[in-house]
Amino acid sequence: MSEFDLIAGHFLRGAIRQPETRVANGDDASIHALADGHELVVSTDTAWLGIHWPKDFPLDDAMDRAVCAALSDLAAMGAKARWIWTAITLQHQDQALLMGQGIVRAADRHGVEIAGGDTTSGQQCGITVTVAGIIPEKTAMCRHQAHVGDHVFVLGSLGRSALGLAEWQKGKHDGDYVPYFTHITPQLFAGELLAKAGIRCCIDVSDGLLQDANHICEASHCAMRLDLNCLLDAFPSPKHREKDVLIQAVLTGGDDYALLFTAAPSMVIPEVAALRIGQCVAAKHGVYTSTPFLDNRPYLMDYPRGFDHFT
Ligand code: ADP
Ligand code: MG
Repeated sequence: MSEFDLIAGHFLRGAIRQPETRVANGDDASIHALADGHELVVSTDTAWLGIHWPKDFPLDDAMDRAVCAALSDLAAMGAKARWIWTAITLQHQDQALLMGQGIVRAADRHGVEIAGGDTTSGQQCGITVTVAGIIPEKTAMCRHQAHVGDHVFVLGSLGRSALGLAEWQKGKHDGDYVPYFTHITPQLFAGELLAKAGIRCCIDVSDGLLQDANHICEASHCAMRLDLNCLLDAFPSPKHREKDVLIQAVLTGGDDYALLFTAAPSMVIPEVAALRIGQCVAAKHGVYTSTPFLDNRPYLMDYPRGFDHFT
C-alpha cells in the first residue's frame, strides 16, 4: 500500500466537520475562520510506545489516550475543542489500522475534526497530537491567575490511573483501577462550564497533583495549603502497607487528567462534582499538604515530585 493509500484508508475518516473550517484536511494546510470576539487555543503533545504507554497495550487504546490527553489541555483552558492534527510514526504499515481506529474513535467521541496530520515510518511507534479550540476572548483559564485567598478545587479523580498502571504492569489487566489508566476522560464539558462561570485559573493534572499544583503556585506567585483527607477518603481504607502507595499515587501519580482550579471564596462553583481541597496562601511557592496518615500535620513538599522525563 502506498503512503497516500495508507493515509486515505486509515486517517481521513473522522466524521466531524466544524462550521469554522474553510479548507479541510487533504490540502497542504487547513483553514479555519474564527467568529468575532473569539480566540484560538492551541496545544501539542507527544506520546511514544514504551514511554507513554506499555509495550503490551493495545495500539488503538494508546492512540485514543494520546488524543484525549491532548484534549485535556483544552479542557484546562476552558476552550471548546474543535480540531486535532495527528503526526504519527509507524514501525510497520500494519500498525496503521489500529492507530487510525483509535484516533478516529477519540475524535468522533469528543466531537473534534481531524484537520490534518503527517504519517512517517520510523524506529519507534509514536504520535504527536496538536489540538485547537475556541473561546470567547479574555475568558481562558490560565495558571498565572490564582490569588491568595482563593479556594482550591479538584474536579475528577486522582491517583486511580497510577494505581491502574501498577496493576497493568503486574499483569492484572482486569484490575479494578485499570480502566482509569486505559481510558482518559478529558473534562471538556466541565472546563468550558468553569470558564463560562468566571473561573480564571485552572490546570489539568497530568504529571501528578503536587507537581501541577506547584505550576499554578509558581505562575501566580503564591503557595497552596491542601488538605488531602477528602481525596484519600474516596478510597477504601487501605491496609497498613498500602498507605504509602496510595498517598504516593494521589499526590504524585500522573495521567489522571482531573482539573485543579482556584476560585475566590465568594464565587458560586457551577460543577457539583468539584471537591474543595484547600486554599491559596501567601507563602514561599510550594504546596503544603496534610493527610490523615501524617497525623494531620501539614508538611511542605519542597520540590514537588511527579513525572519528569529527564530525572
Ligand atoms: P504534505 O506533503 O503536503 O505535507 P502529506 O503528504 O504529508 O502532505 O499528507 C497528505 C494529506 O494527508 C495532508 O492533507 C495531511 O493533512 C493528511 N494526513 C497525512 N497524515 C495524516 C494523519 N496521520 N492524520 C490525518 N491526516 C493526515
Ligand atoms: Mg504540502
